[in-house]
Amino acid sequence: MKNITVIGSGTMGNGIAHTFAQFGYSVNLIDVSEPALQKALATISKNLDRQVAKGGITEADKANTLSKIKTFTDLKTAAEGADLVIEAASENVEVKLKIFKQLDEICAPATILASNTSSISITKIAAATKRADKVIGMHFMNPVPVMKLIEVIRGYSTSDEVCKLIMETSKKLNKIPVEVNDYPGFVANKILMPMINEAIITLFEGEAGVEEIDTVMKLGMAHPMGPLQLADFIGLDVCLNILRVLQDGYGNPKYAPCPLLVNMVMAGHMGAKSGKGFYDYSGGTKDLVVADRFKKKEVLV
Ligand code: NAD
Repeated sequence: MKNITVIGSGTMGNGIAHTFAQFGYSVNLIDVSEPALQKALATISKNLDRQVAKGGITEADKANTLSKIKTFTDLKTAAEGADLVIEAASENVEVKLKIFKQLDEICAPATILASNTSSISITKIAAATKRADKVIGMHFMNPVPVMKLIEVIRGYSTSDEVCKLIMETSKKLNKIPVEVNDYPGFVANKILMPMINEAIITLFEGEAGVEEIDTVMKLGMAHPMGPLQLADFIGLDVCLNILRVLQDGYGNPKYAPCPLLVNMVMAGHMGAKSGKGFYDYSGGTKDLVVADRFKKKEVLV
């Protein structure tokens, strides 16, 4: 595998492009608009600067990495020569199904098609193509250049050969791949999201405030970030969507999103990206929002 196409140049797509390019792959990065691509290149450059400052790479490595990335707005031109395509477009089923249908027509029969989806079924995405054996999940973690894990998701029809190749490719990126089967939430989110939801329920029921909940989990469980801060970082809309995927997929009420989370998303409080979530980021720092603000008003008996 030499030629990689990354679809979507947002938070994850630019990190995936950065990582493949850093390890010597030629990367075609595609998005719907030129400004989105320019923003992605600026982010990659800034993140490479950080690696240079920390002594992880040299200025020459940075220049080499940037020279490996080409940008496109046309899917056919970007994907027709790819050995591996990684889709990191917005988390929307219709968008992803359309992209995979197009890729199936554009790409050579041997090309492997991967999705970085956090919650959409790989089996469903694969069924939009005529090469379900070559469709797989590569669930990178944010920030991609830093986080070691890749959750490699086997769809119902993914072949052993494709799975093995993706595991090997992941190791070449200096990552640690873990193979899991394709069920709602995969493994990472099936375990993480109920914990985040439980933290929100704890706040909603008034057992403790934001800071207390996060401190208990940080100091007591050695988590680097409390669950409410993590939810803000992931995006509260993203957390809500994944909980709904779990609830629908398993038909189990234990995954029902806390009404406080639903309200916050409806109010546009999406976490760090919107400036407000469980914490307030509008001043460029992470400030505590008054804890009582979140508490359910009536007393639960
Ligand atoms: P984002 O909104 O930051 O970026 C998505 C990008 O895709 C945007 O730049 C958008 O313009 C582009 N896009 C949309 N439709 C497109 C199309 N048809 N062709 C090309 N580009 C298109 O989103 P993100 O956070 O980078 O998430 C991308 C994917 O990664 C999602 O499936 C998400 O679930 C998954 N993911 C996200 C995280 C995270 O922490 N953000 C972690 C793991 C996985």
